[in-house]
Formats: sequence, structure tokens, C-alpha cells
Amino acid sequence: MTSKTHLFKSASTRLAATYLAVVMAVSFVFSLTLYRVLSRDIERSYRQSVNVIDRFSTFGMRPDNRQRMMYEQERLDTKQDSMSRLVNELLLINLAILVFGGGLCYLLARRTLQPIEEAHDALQRFTSDASHELRTPLTTMRTEIEVALMNDKITIKEAKQLLGSNLEEVDRLTHLAERLLLLARLDETELPMTTTTLDTVLQSSIQTTQQRLELKKQILHYTPDKKQITNITADLPSLAELFVLLIDNASKYSDNGAEITLTAVQKGDCVVVQVIDKGRGIAKEDLPHIFDRFYRADSSRTVNEEHGYGLGLPLAKKIATLHGGDITVSSHAGKGSTFTVTLPVM
Ligand code: ADP
Repeated sequence: MTSKTHLFKSASTRLAATYLAVVMAVSFVFSLTLYRVLSRDIERSYRQSVNVIDRFSTFGMRPDNRQRMMYEQERLDTKQDSMSRLVNELLLINLAILVFGGGLCYLLARRTLQPIEEAHDALQRFTSDASHELRTPLTTMRTEIEVALMNDKITIKEAKQLLGSNLEEVDRLTHLAERLLLLARLDETELPMTTTTLDTVLQSSIQTTQQRLELKKQILHYTPDKKQITNITADLPSLAELFVLLIDNASKYSDNGAEITLTAVQKGDCVVVQVIDKGRGIAKEDLPHIFDRFYRADSSRTVNEEHGYGLGLPLAKKIATLHGGDITVSSHAGKGSTFTVTLPVM
């Protein structure tokens, strides 16, 4: 049994025991009250039955001492019978509550602890994924440096090549650290919301992604209309980052020279922004996972130039949620993807 399983098992047992103690305390108090009320009733009916034999004399019947004693014994037996039946039944009920309640309390305790267990699992997965992503570039750098150190006749050109490759890895590590920090910041702090327009946010994202699009000779279509001037409450840098992530992905997973479309329309008290590409698309089996931290479709892992850590979409989702909105995707492998962000308007 792993220490985690043991931890949650013993926590469940302790919680179930606490629940059961409360249930049994309530049941005990209830049984005691019931016992007092019913035993008083039994006592009362015992006392009332004393008069019955005396009433015989009013009908001219005179019971002798033996008959009186037999009758008295019968009354006592009936009373004791009723009392012991009452005690037995109350004990039986409490035993049933203990057995069934115990099982039920354990199930309830498991259910209570389940979200905590899931959060614990997610954190463990996250830590191990993050360590793995950190170790990979470090191992590459270490190997390259070791090989260079063993080479006594290393030329300046080779040394520069090595430094260039190392710098690339350092850039990747910096990028990963930035993403991790942003995720941690979004998990912990509240965003400073201000009033801005959707157009301001989108223009800022377009400006940030322009260079990347130009490198791949891709064109971004975005025609703002007056509806996009819509006022929204947002943390401008974070919301702009959300659209940067989506446009970046659209560019990353589309060919050189591809066209990407950005649309924004107001629907009721929401604005719907779409980032549409006609690129590689996402396979059906990957779709449910792409918003999970560190998830990358296999096709993305195999192509070197599209480097990433699978943290972009989880970040985008987090930012959308913190703005009271949501993000969804529809995609077909080989045909392209549409990411839809819905945000409330002011
Ligand atoms: P990264 O791009 O760094 O791998 P993301 O979290 O941004 O991480 O995306 C997760 C995965 O979703 C990517 O690895 C890729 O497989 C898939 N994906 C995201 N956006 C697109 C897109 N526009 N077209 C095709 N695949 C995409």
C-alpha cells in the first residue's frame, strides 16, 4: 500500500468514526428518551390494571386471595415482559444503526475526502510532470557540456555551437518557469479587474503575436466592428495573454502562409471571441485532455519545431474562468480548430 493510499484510508476511517460517534450519540439520547416515555406508559398501565380486579366486586364477584395473587403475578409478568421487549427492541435498533450507520458513515467519509484526494493526485501529477520537463533540458545541457569538456581540440566554432544550443535550452527553461509562475499566481491571487474594451484586449494580443505570425508568413484576419468596443471587466494583461496563447497555438499548429481568423460578437450579455485556424486540428481522442496541465497530443511531441509544455491551454482556461467566462474547442484532425472564448459583458 502506498503512503498516499494509507493516508487517505486512515483519514477516511477516522472521519467515519467521528460521523458514527455523532450518529450513535444522537441515537443513544433518542433511545433513552423513548425508553423513559414508554417505560412510564408501561408503569401507568400496570398501575391502572390494579383497579380491574377490584371492579369485579361491583358485579357481585369476590375473588379470593389465590385468584388475587395469580392476577397480581400475571400483571407483574406482563409489565416485565413489556419492559424487556422495549429494552430488546431499542438495543436491536441501536445495533442496526451501528452496523448500517458504520458502513454509511464510511461511504460518506470517502465521498467527503474524494475531492481532497483528487486535488492531492493532481498536485502530485503536476509536480512529477514539472520535474520531468525541468530535467529534460538540464540533461541535454549536461551531456553537451560533458562531451565538449572531453574534447581537447574543441574549436571556437564548436564551442559557440554548444553555447548556442545551451542558450536555447535556457530559453526553454525560462519559458517553462514563467508559465509555472503565472499558473501559481493565477491559482493564488485575485486578478486586479478594471474596465476596458474587448477591442483594446484583442489589439494588444495581436501586437504581441505579430512577430511570430510574420516569421511563418501567416495572416491574421481581424475586422473590429463597433460591437467589439463592448466594455468588459478584465485584468488586461492576463486576458490579452489568453488570446496570445490561442493565436500562438493557431500559428504553431498551422503551416507557413496559413490564414487565422479572429472574430468577436456580442450575444446577449456575453461576448463570444473565436480563434479559427485551418491547421493540423486535434484528434478526437486528444480533445477531452487538451486543457489538462502538461498534456500534449502525440503529434505535437513528435514535431520538434513546435516546442511546448502543454501549459498554454490550461493557462487560457484558468484566465477565462477567473474572468467569469469559459473556453471551448471544436476541432477535426487535418481540418483545423476553433477555440471559443465566452466572456460576460458589463
Ligand atoms: P503546447 O502548445 O505548449 O503543447 P497547449 O496547452 O497550448 O500546449 O496545447 C496542448 C495541446 O493541444 C498541444 O500540444 C496540441 O496538441 C493541441 N493544440 C492546441 N491548440 C491547437 C491548435 N490550434 N491546433 C492543433 N492542436 C492544438
